[in-house]
Amino acid sequence: DSVFANVVRAPEDPILGVTVAYNKDTSPIKLNLGVGAYRTEEGKPLILNVVRRAEQMLVNDQSRVKEYLPIIGLADFNKLSAKLIFGADSPAIQENRVTTVQGLSGTGSLRVGAEFLAKHYHQRTIYIPQPTWGNHPKIFTIAGLSVKTYRYYDPSTRGLHFQGLLEDLGSAPTGAIVLLHACAHNPTGVDPTLEQWEQIRKLMRSKGLLPFFDSAYQGFASGSLDADAQAVRIFVADGGECLAAQSYAKNMGLYGERVGALSIVCRTADVASKVESQLKLVIRPMYSNPPIHGASIVATILKDRDMFHEWTIELKAMADRIITMRQKLFDALSSRGTPGDWSHIIKQIGMFTFTGLNTEQVAFMTKEYHIYMTSDGRISMAGLSSKTVPHLADAIHAAVT
Ligand code: PLP
Repeated sequence: DSVFANVVRAPEDPILGVTVAYNKDTSPIKLNLGVGAYRTEEGKPLILNVVRRAEQMLVNDQSRVKEYLPIIGLADFNKLSAKLIFGADSPAIQENRVTTVQGLSGTGSLRVGAEFLAKHYHQRTIYIPQPTWGNHPKIFTIAGLSVKTYRYYDPSTRGLHFQGLLEDLGSAPTGAIVLLHACAHNPTGVDPTLEQWEQIRKLMRSKGLLPFFDSAYQGFASGSLDADAQAVRIFVADGGECLAAQSYAKNMGLYGERVGALSIVCRTADVASKVESQLKLVIRPMYSNPPIHGASIVATILKDRDMFHEWTIELKAMADRIITMRQKLFDALSSRGTPGDWSHIIKQIGMFTFTGLNTEQVAFMTKEYHIYMTSDGRISMAGLSSKTVPHLADAIHAAVT
């Protein structure tokens, strides 16, 4: 008998498991709206033109080698990533108060930040929004933090539960860590307004709560890299500490390259350099050092004016296509006279619509219409096209009537 005979089968990941089920479906009309990956109007994955150009340049550069990167990754990449999220003129960067390390996309960057906090921060409780991306509680728990939630979404308005959020953060213990989605909150698509962010900032600073931003969709929400970084920047502008995990999966389409960054903004350059020295001790036994290819692509694009500009145009085109899909789905439901208020489809922001469909309705749509999505009713708008909107609208209509 196997020495592993007593290993019990684990359930599929609630998000990636949707794709597993989709792949098994043989129907020609099947539609995967589960995982948050951008698709073209033809339903195909997209490699950005500017990414292809950068890769070509890297291939042609005979001086490039495949040596190990330093523990914290590619220096250029780290500097440019910090500038991208905090702004080119950020005083925190100019004063050398920021340490940035390359991470394995957003997930790996969150994990490194969490491991650092569990070892070196005095208050090991992290508040995450209710609901949030399904991986958040697991990442923080396994790193050794204690996870609590704060109210975020109000199903009755399909909007922000702002009062609940303020109450819950207001009663959090001094110094607690707070996970904030920098923009395009996943799964709800509901973000605070700038005025609300300002109130959140004031409350958090007055209680000494430590902000940890998850920035997985910069540029993907509004189409503007700067607009989507506003929340982070108002926190950095007050001179206080914060952490930020960045991902280039969505906004550069580098999903499988696993490229991201963790920045920790400190009050002094001396503290920042000590923090960096400890981040190395977190990373070295975990994966030694990060992969070189994705970070080289990103650095090539970020440091060249023309390529950066080309990227912003391609990014805006992706964001705009998603916004168009929102309008088309809303119009399709309106023209079918589907009961209920569906205006949240056009109000929500980013890659996902939190439809309000329940588990049974989702199961019905999968069984009868071969449409795959997470059981909380979240659909990836980026997986939708003009051709597939009518099919989805038919399915939603049938599910709610
Ligand atoms: N954070 C949020 C809110 C996300 O939605 C995602 C991806 O779905 C991530 C982080 C991390 O993704 P990745 O590790 O692929 O960068």
